[in-house]
Amino acid sequence: MEYTKRGKILFQISSLIKHDFDEIARLETLNQGKPLRESKADVAWVVRAFEYWGGLADKIEGETIPVTSNRLTYTLREPLGVTAHIIPWNYPLALAARSLAPALATGNAIVAKPAELTPLTLLKIAEYAQKAGLPDGILNVVTGSGAVAGRALVSHPDIDGITFTGSTQTGQQIMEAASKNVTPVLLELGGKNPNIIFPDADFQKAVQMAKFAIFTNAGQMCWAGSRLFLHEEIYEKFLEELKKQTESIKIGQGLDEKTELGPLVSEDQKERVLSYIKSGLEDGARLITGGSVPEDPTLRNGCFLKPTIFDQVKSSMKIVREEIFGPVLTVFRFKSVEEVIEMSNDTPYGLYAGVWTNNLKLAQHVIKNLQAGVVAVNDYLVAYPQTPFGGYKDSGIGYESGQQAVSRYTRIKSVTVNSS
Ligand code: NDP
Repeated sequence: MEYTKRGKILFQISSLIKHDFDEIARLETLNQGKPLRESKADVAWVVRAFEYWGGLADKIEGETIPVTSNRLTYTLREPLGVTAHIIPWNYPLALAARSLAPALATGNAIVAKPAELTPLTLLKIAEYAQKAGLPDGILNVVTGSGAVAGRALVSHPDIDGITFTGSTQTGQQIMEAASKNVTPVLLELGGKNPNIIFPDADFQKAVQMAKFAIFTNAGQMCWAGSRLFLHEEIYEKFLEELKKQTESIKIGQGLDEKTELGPLVSEDQKERVLSYIKSGLEDGARLITGGSVPEDPTLRNGCFLKPTIFDQVKSSMKIVREEIFGPVLTVFRFKSVEEVIEMSNDTPYGLYAGVWTNNLKLAQHVIKNLQAGVVAVNDYLVAYPQTPFGGYKDSGIGYESGQQAVSRYTRIKSVTVNSS
């Protein structure tokens, strides 16, 4: 297909989604459970992602390389071929768009598998792609479990590239399966991300965003700010204000416009998070707030959990070392810059980090020394279709989004023409 045609189809998918904005946001909430206001933010991101990649589709360029005067050497960027996309359940729509749009823009055919729990919005994207004029066979969706459909897909010898977002453990299994066919992998895995607050930061904004960083999507986020580091000068005051704001979060059904914290995705996930809370208590962490299901009889039997904060935690505790993927925050006290850098990096993960200070020199020093693929200063949970997103250490391989993603969905052919 012509590059410009590809771009037009992507623009068309974007405008079809925009047209049905409210309907698709509602479907995502029914699919996953997240509050409607978060689903709307996800749909807005998806609209923008298809638009961004629509614009890039005819700008996938090679380069010329000077060799000798009688030879012309240049590179061609070619699609990988057929790419497999394994989509998780925490952002079913946004994470599908994040990898489908660049794969389509660069000319690949796709087989995508949604998580068994949340297939609805990926199937909807496939419908829009068909309406937008994408030829049959280019975007294929296979539903089913990870253990059966997912495993078969990533092990298939005709797959030329794999994009996976999910747990580090499943990422390792996928990498192993891919190695049999030498299939390249793009992995975006877990995180246990530091959010560091220095005493000179804008206090109210930092409190509000520390809450947002962990309780959005009920904490089911690879980029959740799940380890909060507070400077000793502001420790008590900050924690008190954060507790107060956390206790006023409105828990409820996703479709209720007033809901700020929705249910977890499943009963299993709720039980998993409760088992982490239990282990935190057994290990001697101090429970500041939450730690149980809500008392409200309309919520008690659902998959809801109260937003939970622990402090007096140690780096050896399970709640500090492992990705909980729920509304559970662990809080640390620090004195010096070097100490907080060391504590922040004391994790197998390295996906995202927040740094709060108005001291530019300090911010630069911390940014340079953090082992994280993405850093936000005086901000949190910011990612655009045009900014690369990926992790250091066990948080993954390669970058999604931005022009860097082109290299993950294409391969280079190096050509030399002898004109003598
Ligand atoms: P997984 O990583 O197992 O699942 C993510 C996706 O991979 C799903 O689509 C799943 O399908 C699929 N999958 C599972 N096993 C395989 C396999 N062998 N081959 C190919 N695809 C496979 O996460 P879980 O749902 O089990 O959640 C457990 C924990 O993982 C969470 O608590 C959280 O800590 C982490 N997680 C991290 C995410 C992130 O964004 N980094 C996203 C999701 C989970 P299916 O669900 O249909 O079985």
